[in-house]
Amino acid sequence: MTNDILVFVEQRSNHALPAGLQCLTAARVLAGQTSGKVIALVVGGAIDAAVAEASKAGADRVIAIRDAGLERYSATRYRAALCSAIESAKPRIVLLAASFLGRDLAPRVAMRLGAQLATDVTELQFAGGALTIRRPVYNGKAIAKVAFKADRLAIASIRANTFAPPAAAAAVNVESLPFAAGPGDDRLNNEGLERSAGEIKDVTEADIIVSGGRSLKSEDNFKQYIFPLAQALDAAVGASRAACDAGYQPHSRQVGLTGKTVTPKLYIACGVSGAIQHLAGMRGSKVIVAINTDKEAPITKVADYTLPLDLFAVLPLMTEAVKGMR
Ligand SMILES: Cc1cc2nc3c(=O)[nH]c(=O)nc-3n(C[C@H](O)[C@H](O)[C@H](O)COP(=O)(O)OP(=O)(O)OC[C@H]3O[C@@H](n4cnc5c(N)ncnc54)[C@H](O)[C@@H]3O)c2cc1C
Repeated sequence: MTNDILVFVEQRSNHALPAGLQCLTAARVLAGQTSGKVIALVVGGAIDAAVAEASKAGADRVIAIRDAGLERYSATRYRAALCSAIESAKPRIVLLAASFLGRDLAPRVAMRLGAQLATDVTELQFAGGALTIRRPVYNGKAIAKVAFKADRLAIASIRANTFAPPAAAAAVNVESLPFAAGPGDDRLNNEGLERSAGEIKDVTEADIIVSGGRSLKSEDNFKQYIFPLAQALDAAVGASRAACDAGYQPHSRQVGLTGKTVTPKLYIACGVSGAIQHLAGMRGSKVIVAINTDKEAPITKVADYTLPLDLFAVLPLMTEAVKGMR
């Protein structure tokens, strides 16, 4: 085992995911503590642009594994690719984004290599030869501290937007590693992918989210009140489960315990009560704005700013104001 840190930089459609690049920032800090190098790994089919992005994001080395069979995510083949990169680079620590893909992939790799794993990590520190991390538990109400053992590979998936994007750096050399699927790695074959939420930004990738609740009353009102503000702010659209269950938005936009966990810089909750299950998915947002006619609604307890107003009156004014500023 070296003192190096391998970062699996997730890419989608040949672009490095912001959450994947943010792991390089975490790795850079850790590398100062382990005295090791940062190695970025990019896996996929046609990934030249993503590899170029990763090579200018502060890593010391970049490994690319390209294969037509890796064009779409396959749990078994991506596991094989990541395991082979780990076996080749022999890092002490592996980091990857706690994205949907990361959540699926990390435990498979840990299981296969007998490694230690902590998920959804928000703080890391390497001292005394071993990694210690912190991660939110119980819907973010408590923070668990997890100490890894020094003698085994440590894998940590990192919560999106916990670390800043890496500073631009001079491009480093890219090495290619051949991909060889192992026996049984073709058991799962991903035949195709369809976006369920159209071309609008996914809530897990956005810096700003405008979220709507049951009080929107219809899909048309989402279109008329939520989407224009989101568009003006270059934001993603989120929704409470009640709004999704009512059919106002697809469940791919649901934020919360049984939806997506988001940590944007700004979360604007419009007519969302802030039930504990909703808070579980968004209380890590940097700044929370609540627009709610009920001054006592639970969302106001976590909000940095509360507008105790009717969303139907205030959202068009906000949208015009934002358009005016831009
Ligand atoms: C196991 C389980 C898992 C769950 N997972 C999730 C989850 O992942 N995500 C999630 O969101 N929920 C989840 N829920 C549901 C959750 O408990 C709440 O029922 C849901 O979040 C409520 O949605 P809401 O805030 O949109 O609606 P409501 O509770 O109906 O709240 C509407 C809010 O809008 C305000 N309002 C009304 N009219 C206006 C207006 N004109 N202008 C401004 N404000 C107005 C009201 O004051 C109120 O606060 C889960 C529940 C369970 C049991």
